[in-house]
Amino acid sequence: MGWKAFLSFLFFLLVIALLILYWFIPFDTVEFGTSISNPNFNLNSTSLNNMQFYSNLRYPDSEISYKIYDECTLQKKQDMERAFEIISNLTVLKFYSVNFNEGLSIFCDEKNKIENDLFIAGEGGPVNITQTDNFNVIFNARILLIQDFRCDIPNVAIHELLHALGFDHSSNKNNIMYPVTKCGQSIGEDIPYWVNYLYSFETLPDLSFENISAVMKGKYLDAEISIRNNGLKKTESVKIVIYADGKIIKEIPIESLEIGSGKIISLANIWITQLSIDEIKFVIDSNFDELDKSNNVAVLKTKK
Ligand SMILES: [Zn+2]
Repeated sequence: MGWKAFLSFLFFLLVIALLILYWFIPFDTVEFGTSISNPNFNLNSTSLNNMQFYSNLRYPDSEISYKIYDECTLQKKQDMERAFEIISNLTVLKFYSVNFNEGLSIFCDEKNKIENDLFIAGEGGPVNITQTDNFNVIFNARILLIQDFRCDIPNVAIHELLHALGFDHSSNKNNIMYPVTKCGQSIGEDIPYWVNYLYSFETLPDLSFENISAVMKGKYLDAEISIRNNGLKKTESVKIVIYADGKIIKEIPIESLEIGSGKIISLANIWITQLSIDEIKFVIDSNFDELDKSNNVAVLKTKK
């Protein structure tokens, strides 16, 4: 064997050694069968917006007030408080007890209810929702705790709390939102992720124009303007300023608007000094932060 043949034999051995290292040394461990016990709400998560009764359901604020009514036993009261603790550890939400005007009301019923051969463990969901362009805003939700169900975590109370936060039932048996409660079900990762996404938007108002129409009659302008608060907080008072080619022609004061409420303003015979105008601009002049400021301006061009 010449030295060349010897070198290529050595090289061959080296390649074999590297291949053995590559194929047989376990750098990563793979656990088989994890997909069977996937606890998420969605088993094949394409969109996360399908988990709730309506799109983008949330309370105005991440701090939610609650009241547990006196009829609840100490055990149910403790289960509910433990559910609050678990959800606030997993998300940005905080829960605090009040005596009246609560955002979340918890009632209890000691009588067992049976439907389709199953014990009804509880009921829960939003009862007062205001629809806006950005969110469906929850003002009040109710929980009714019926059956005690002993697991390591208070599954029934958590399930009903998630309903109150707007979550629907999941078709995954391992998820806590499955219609039939069993110990061992868990919250998964997509529910806390979606809660944190929804509440990542600050509690701010959001005034925007809904419709604007304007007509010039000679030197007079007629206009109809509608605005709405699509935000998560009552607005302070603002003014709408109308410009004709950059020059202010009218200012209209608007008093504060609650979440979801709006106003229609009809204007007639505003005298315009310019001989001809190319554009009329409408501006919501607010001196507070909003979810979106870019929707505070609308421009109409005159048709030539
Ligand atoms: Zn349910």
